[in-house]
Amino acid sequence: MGLFSGKNALIFGVANKDSIAWGIAQALHAEGANIGLSYANEKLKRRVEPLAQSIGVTFLEECDVLDDAALDRVFARAAQHFGRLDVLVHAVAFAERADLEGEFVNTSREGWNLALGVSAYSLVAMARRARPLMTEGGAIVTLSYYGSEKVVPHYNVMGVAKAALEASVRYLAFELGGQNIRVNALSPGPIKTLSGAGIPGFRKMLRYSQLASPLHKLVTPEDVGKAVVWLCSDWGRSVTGQTIYIDAGYSAMGVPHGLLEAMREQLPED
Ligand code: NAD
Repeated sequence: MGLFSGKNALIFGVANKDSIAWGIAQALHAEGANIGLSYANEKLKRRVEPLAQSIGVTFLEECDVLDDAALDRVFARAAQHFGRLDVLVHAVAFAERADLEGEFVNTSREGWNLALGVSAYSLVAMARRARPLMTEGGAIVTLSYYGSEKVVPHYNVMGVAKAALEASVRYLAFELGGQNIRVNALSPGPIKTLSGAGIPGFRKMLRYSQLASPLHKLVTPEDVGKAVVWLCSDWGRSVTGQTIYIDAGYSAMGVPHGLLEAMREQLPED
């Protein structure tokens, strides 16, 4: 018996084997959950289909989260397929590369609307559709990043989208709490994925995070999967409305490890 035996989990955001959503799917599957997967577009199907088959997933639906009719269709099919939903995973984000390369001050209206629409509003759109299916309570989890709270060069409009996402988590947690539906965000440190690679300077960020975090290691999709198992199972039953860092302790540091040593020549002697 796994922690999720007899439970149904719908996961948005698998693009390939490196996706954080895939780490989450594997972790929930290992604990006995019935998994449904949704991917963004036809192009990704040939990557996602074999992954789904490898863990016996039969619910596999295309959905562009900007398309309300597509969202309606996926949740209607999930209702038919699973009956009840226990876990919803939102692991979806997008911003135009131009909006990450340039200065934040130059973010276009279209770029802003696109980034916030895909990366933040979609959580609200999904939660609204998941609520009637979570008849025995449930857990909704999304993925954020430290750039919501502090400036991370090049994260730009995605930082604003993640701030909106984290605020949405709190409002949804308040409204859905009465039905025992918990809503939380996990905030991992940088992980090498398709989305990650789209952020200029990402490789430097990876190395820097490893050096500067108290655990001196990089976070993996498997680490995030384990955190989802804890958070969305009975073990996390009193946690809602939170953003929880899964970042090897990076966000706890005021002066990152090694920084003073690295800047020795620019700093005065003690
Ligand atoms: P990924 O590229 O594997 O996943 C992002 C997913 O978003 C993809 O599956 C993509 O198809 C989907 N997506 C984009 N636009 C969409 C649309 N219009 N409709 C439907 N789906 C759409 O990368 P990932 O790193 O696994 O990202 C998953 C989540 O984790 C994102 O929210 C990301 O911001 C967050 N996150 C990533 C990191 C990191 O370093 N990789 C760190 C913290 C948080």
